[in-house]
Amino acid sequence: MPEETFTPIGQKVEDIAPGATEETQAEDDQPRGVEEIESLCMNCHENGMTRLMLTQIPYFREIIIMSFHCDKCGFQNNEIQPAGTFQLKGVHVELRLTQMEDFARQVVKSDTATVKFIELDVEVPPGRGQLTNVEGLLSTIIDDLESNQGARREQQPEVAEKVQDIIDKGRKMLAGEAFPFRVSVDDPAGNSFITPDMRDGVGKWEKREYLRTKEQNEALGLTDTSNEGLTETGDIISPTLSTPSPPPAPAACTLAPPT
Ligand SMILES: [Zn+2]
Repeated sequence: MPEETFTPIGQKVEDIAPGATEETQAEDDQPRGVEEIESLCMNCHENGMTRLMLTQIPYFREIIIMSFHCDKCGFQNNEIQPAGTFQLKGVHVELRLTQMEDFARQVVKSDTATVKFIELDVEVPPGRGQLTNVEGLLSTIIDDLESNQGARREQQPEVAEKVQDIIDKGRKMLAGEAFPFRVSVDDPAGNSFITPDMRDGVGKWEKREYLRTKEQNEALGLTDTSNEGLTETGDIISPTLSTPSPPPAPAACTLAPPT
C-alpha cells in the first residue's frame, strides 16, 4: 500500500509534534468515530455495525461516511452520506494508472457522480455515494458483469460474448497487465474526487472544474442560474498547487431536497 505517497493531515501533525503516537500510518486512515448503529449485513444477513464518521480526504475536504463492517463474514463498505449541498461548479477528475500502487488511490464518488474506465468503455452511473479506491471500483464492475453472465449467455449470447471481452480486459487491468489506462469521475454537483499524489507528473492526474449546463442544473434540482454568462473554461488544478490543509468551506448552493 503506497500510503506514503501523500502525507495525511495526521502525519503532518505528527511531524510537527513527534511522539504523540507511534505507527500512525494505519490510524491515519481510521477516521474519528461519531456514532455506531447495529445494522443488518447485506452479505450474510447477520448483524454488523455501521459507524458514522467524519473523514478527511487528502486535498479534498471532510466528508461523512457510513462505514459498515460485519464481524461475522468480514463484509465492509463505505457509503458517503449525501452532502445535500452542491458546489458552484461541476468537477471532472481523471487519473492515468501506470502502476499497481495507483489502484489504491482513494475515490470519492458522490451519489451524483459517474465513474468511467475509459479504455474499458464501461461506466458506473450515479447511484449510492461511495468512498472506495480504484481497485474497489474496477473489481466491483467486473464482479457485477460476471455474476450476470450465465443468464446473458442463454438470453443474449452475442452480448455475453462482448461482455466477456470486457471482463477479460478488466481482469488484466486488475492484474497489472494492461497499464496504462484511465479512470475518470465526473460529478456535476462537484462533490467527487480521486486523490492525487504529490509525485504525479504531467498527464497523470487532472482535475477540471466546469460550469453546469442548464440541463445538469435541472437534473440536480437546481434552479439557480447565477452561473449564466460566465465562460465555460474549466480550471486545471495541478496537485502541486493544492495545499493539503482543509479547504475553506465551499461556496455551495444549498437547496431543498428534491421531493
Ligand atoms: Zn456479514
